Amino acid sequence: MNNVSKVKLLKLSVMVALALSATANANVTDKDISNDQMTTDDVVSYGLGLRGQRYSPLTMINDKTVSELRPVWGFSLGGEKQRGQESQPLVKDGVMYITGSYSRVYAIDAMTGDELWQYDARLPDGIMPCCDVINRGVALYDNLVIFATLDSKLVALNKDTGKVVWKKKVEDYKAGYSITAAPIVVKGKVITGVAGGEFGIVGKVRAYDALTGSIVWERPTVEGHMGYVWENGKKIEAGISGGAPGKTWPGDLWKSGGAAPWLGGTYDKDVDLLFFGTGNPAPWNSHLRPGDNYFSSSRLAINPDNGKIVWHFQTTPHDGWDYDGVNELVSFDYKVNGKTIKAAATADRNGFFYVLNRENGDFIRGFPFVDKITWAKGLDDKGRPIFDDANRPGNPASSKDGKKGSTVVSAPSFLGGKNWMPMAYSKDTELFYVPSNEWEMSIWNEPTAYKKGAAYLGAGFTIKAINDDYIGVLRAIDPKTGKEVWRYKNYAPLWGGVLTTAGNLVFMGNPEGYLMAFDAKTGEIKYKFNTGSGVIGSPITWTMGGEQYISVLSGWGGAVPLWGGEVAKRVKNFNQGGMVWTFKLPK
Ligand code: CA
Ligand code: CA
Repeated sequence: MNNVSKVKLLKLSVMVALALSATANANVTDKDISNDQMTTDDVVSYGLGLRGQRYSPLTMINDKTVSELRPVWGFSLGGEKQRGQESQPLVKDGVMYITGSYSRVYAIDAMTGDELWQYDARLPDGIMPCCDVINRGVALYDNLVIFATLDSKLVALNKDTGKVVWKKKVEDYKAGYSITAAPIVVKGKVITGVAGGEFGIVGKVRAYDALTGSIVWERPTVEGHMGYVWENGKKIEAGISGGAPGKTWPGDLWKSGGAAPWLGGTYDKDVDLLFFGTGNPAPWNSHLRPGDNYFSSSRLAINPDNGKIVWHFQTTPHDGWDYDGVNELVSFDYKVNGKTIKAAATADRNGFFYVLNRENGDFIRGFPFVDKITWAKGLDDKGRPIFDDANRPGNPASSKDGKKGSTVVSAPSFLGGKNWMPMAYSKDTELFYVPSNEWEMSIWNEPTAYKKGAAYLGAGFTIKAINDDYIGVLRAIDPKTGKEVWRYKNYAPLWGGVLTTAGNLVFMGNPEGYLMAFDAKTGEIKYKFNTGSGVIGSPITWTMGGEQYISVLSGWGGAVPLWGGEVAKRVKNFNQGGMVWTFKLPK
């Protein structure tokens, strides 16, 4: 080799090294987030794309090859804090970012499973999470890893060091606020909801400048509360959406009305709208609050620039069963007579599956996705439930001693036909894969009054399985017809998210500990691996070094063992854990 060639080679290798290091240190941009679903070498948003379809175009791992799948590394979350692990990992430039129970964050070498750094939020003693000390994941933006804590703060960490860059109090945890959802980043703003509907908080969605943590807007989700935008540091009233203060509430009850958007949101850039669901109106005892109680148990479309509510769709008006309407609204398109319908779908806790027009919130169709619904006889042509009045838990004020209303048996149970665990949508099969549960509850009402930081239910309940041999049902549902194409029945209630891929596969974990892969068209089980503890996290897939990987968190916990009545007995022998498992095909 002559000297000129050597110099050329040296130059070339320097350029390659620079290019590699540029990749290794690349910050996450709005474009990266916007294109996340189709860029297979990273996962930079909750939902594998802000629409939340949880679909990957990857095909290396497919219905023919998946039987060869094997774990390549496992990572322990350590400590004694082994509670439910509901996190969805994110991956960027060979680094995986996950959250663990008790508001912990980890950066892990995605090739080897080596820990790069760990961050522990120092939580105060008085936190009030309703349903286990879980967290569902981080957001990535620029050089930041952003997550929310059980004491209701947003924290942004440097992605390389895990050191705090900014930290903001979102709300007062002493009033019952907490945050468990993964935030999302839309157009440079980090957007979060809050939890606390069981404590009579006021639900709200907030947007912060992702780089600095400065607040941009606030949108309360209980009718009557004013929204605000901040311009040049000044707080400006953004007006009321949807009528006068508490119009659909009696008296002052809207002031502690709940409607917590605790599961976070999705975003669709076609219509430039955020979609957030809202939880139960507070208290649970519906006789204390006649009216529809806007905007509880609803889906809200929100302008990402100023927090204005553009449309709302209420799945359970005057909710009396804790049918939180928080479940994710997933945008998808389909064709009718050659015309594209911009739709969005959601599987509600109340047992009905809804297809809406995502441009304006119009009801397209709805149908039951569980076998048993007692509280409503169906939906009318606007999607409003046709109540079965005999199935509303009775008014304690009409009882002899005024202390307990009549008990009814309602299905689904308050843990829902589907709870937080996200479904997936495949554009190949045009099916939704819905993790659901068949259970019912005895429920009754009691008197209650609001007290800051105290449980505000006015109800008692006990949950029961409907069938001896299964509670969980993974369903493949055609959103155009309501037809169930296949089902997989699971003994324990399902509590983890779903992933689908162009390899004709559906991935999901179960509380028994298995990560499973199903044929997306038929539901046939193609692969299962026991992770050692219940899987209630959401699986992801991505490529690295030319190979396709799958990752999922394992670690039993969540709401079921805490709130599950007789169902909790069914799962009491499941062991706790706290692991990330990563899989690929052999070379
Ligand atoms: Ca991606
Ligand atoms: Ca609730």
